[in-house]
Order: sequence, then structure tokens, then C-alpha cells
Amino acid sequence: MKILQEFINAAQDPVIYARENNMEKKKKLIGYCCTYTPEEIIYAAGAIPVRLFGIKSGIEKADAHLQAYSCSLVRGIMEDALLGNLDFLDGMVFPHTCDTIQRLSDIWRLNIKTTWHNDIMLPVKLDTQSAREYMEDAHAKFRRELGAWMGTEITDDALKQAIALYNRLRSLMKRLYEIRSANPEALSGRDMYAVVKGTMVMDRKDAADLIEKLVAELEQKTPPVQGNARRLVISGGICDHPEIYDLIEKTGARVVWDDLCTGSRFFEGLISEEGDPIKALAARYSNRTICPAKHASLTLRGDNLVGIAKEHKANGVIFILLKFCDPHAFDYPFMKKMLDDAGIPSMLLEVEQELPSAGQLATRFDAFIEML
Ligand code: SF4
Repeated sequence: MKILQEFINAAQDPVIYARENNMEKKKKLIGYCCTYTPEEIIYAAGAIPVRLFGIKSGIEKADAHLQAYSCSLVRGIMEDALLGNLDFLDGMVFPHTCDTIQRLSDIWRLNIKTTWHNDIMLPVKLDTQSAREYMEDAHAKFRRELGAWMGTEITDDALKQAIALYNRLRSLMKRLYEIRSANPEALSGRDMYAVVKGTMVMDRKDAADLIEKLVAELEQKTPPVQGNARRLVISGGICDHPEIYDLIEKTGARVVWDDLCTGSRFFEGLISEEGDPIKALAARYSNRTICPAKHASLTLRGDNLVGIAKEHKANGVIFILLKFCDPHAFDYPFMKKMLDDAGIPSMLLEVEQELPSAGQLATRFDAFIEML
């Protein structure tokens, strides 16, 4: 499908895409590596947020700075930076999330010469009034500091426009997921992955315009169907592996939804377009689908996953966790138990950014999907 090609290009090599395509626009490019980055403020300042995914193999230079037991995502991003591949970035933002990303910020500051470096100190516990106020202050501070560095005032109007754009983008992405849930044949997992990943490095307005066209085309072509494919939900941090979707689809099963940073955790949670935009942003980032580096209740993540699986009539859940990712590893037993209690089978796949052999993965998927 022609509309998909732009996303595929961006997802295939996000660094080259961000450097070449976005630079043509003469906008500043701000790198980030976590969905708790308030992208809306960056966009309102006239810059483009660029999510980093890191190189997947041949990590050598980063090993001099990060322990081998850091997750391969962070090691891959550091390797990219040390190789000079990210020199085109004008700035880099590190929201206060997992320990590894916080340490990456310190190591980056000492070793990489990005023009602008910013840490956003977010609360960890999100369910109190004081945490909400802290979140508002953190966003207001980021707005001030980014505006000062860019030599521009990030006005309420600019923020409201950016919020409206992100609401449009997130609603469209969710609509695309809903189309696939109703008819998993509408779009392959690989293509859906390209749309989400590509969006994260494209100018968000271009991405929203293209997704709108894609949704319109799919809505015309693909009425909901009652297929008999096994329906799966993927849960984890990021899934930067289109091969995983291919292998699952080869078994005849389909991924119908996910609980991923590179998926529903990016698009769930719209922002109020009324009132103070900073308060509205802080409300969204406090209430959005939570990630394991944050806390609001002991059962919130498990309840969310069980809810997704039930809503989308999933036969099973595949946890795809990055090795050495402590936040996700700590949550896993509790989430698995909640799925077990709800009668939803699950399997755990621990991977690094470099995947094991396709044969090995296919055997594991086959064995799990056969028993569903
Ligand atoms: S995968 Fe885990 S450890 Fe790595 S950056 Fe994400 S939350 Fe942090």
C-alpha cells in the first residue's frame, strides 16, 4: 500500500530518516528514548521529537561506559551516539524513568556533545495530589528551559495547537488498532509496527495526515470479519522486531493489540483541550497507561493487561521483555498471576535488541499457540 511506504522508510532506518527528511524542514531535532517525554512541548516549540531505538548488534564502544547487564536498548542508543550517528540531533531529553535511562543521561552528558541536554525530573508515584503538582512543575520547567534555549516563547496557543495535533494523531492510531482488532487481516503486524515506529521519528503532522488516509482506505476496504485465527496481545517495553510479527503470523495467529511503549502506551490517553495546557498535559502524563518505571497501584498494570486481553478477545498474551530490564522483570510475575487467575494463557520471551535465530523463536511461538 503506497501510504505505508513513508512509515516503512522511517522505521527501517530511523536515524537516516530523521537526519535527512526532517532536516529538510529546517526544524530542530530533539532526541528522546521514553514515552514519558512530553513531546507536545517540543512540538509546540517548533522542533521535532525523534525517538531513538539504538543499533541492534556490534555494540562495543558503549561497553566501556555501561555495564553489560544494562538493557540492550540503552546500550544500542549509547553505541549510536558514540559512533557519531546521532551528531545531527540538536538536543537530547531524558525524562526521569528507569534507573538505566537516568544513568544514560549522566553518561551522555560527559561523553556526547549534544548542543542541548535536559533532564525532566518526573515523579515516580503518580496517584497523589502532590505528585500531580510536581508533574505540572516539571512540565512548566521543561517548557521554560526549552523555550529559553530555542530563543522562543512557547505560548499557551502553541501548546494548545500541539495538544490538538497529538490528540488527532493518537485517536487515529487507536482507530487503526481497532480496525485491526476487528479484522486482523486488514494490516500485517509488520506494517502496523512500521506505522507506530515511523510516526515516532516523522514530523507528527505528516504522520497524522498519512494515518488519516490509511484509516479511510482501510475503513472502506475491510469490514469486520469473524476469522478463526488465534488472537494474541503482546506486552512489554518496546518491540522493535518486525520479524516477531512475521513469525507469529506464520503460525496462523494474529497480534490484535498490545501493551507496549511502541504501541498502545504511546497513543492511549487524550489530553483536555480546555483550560491551562500545562495542567492538561500533566493530567495526561499522570493518568496515561502506566509503565513499570512508575507507580500508582499494585494491580494497575495487571488490570490493564487483563482488560485489554478481554476487550480484544485474546486467546493468549506474549510477554516480550528486554533482558536486564528490571522494571518489566519485577512486574512480570504479578501480571502473569493476574492473567492466570483470569484464565488467560501467557508465555514469556526474553530478548535483546539482537534476536535469537528465527528457527528457535518459531518453535517457541508454535508450541505456545498450538496449546491455545
Ligand atoms: S527496556 Fe527497561 S531498562 Fe531499558 S530503558 Fe526501557 S524500562 Fe529502562
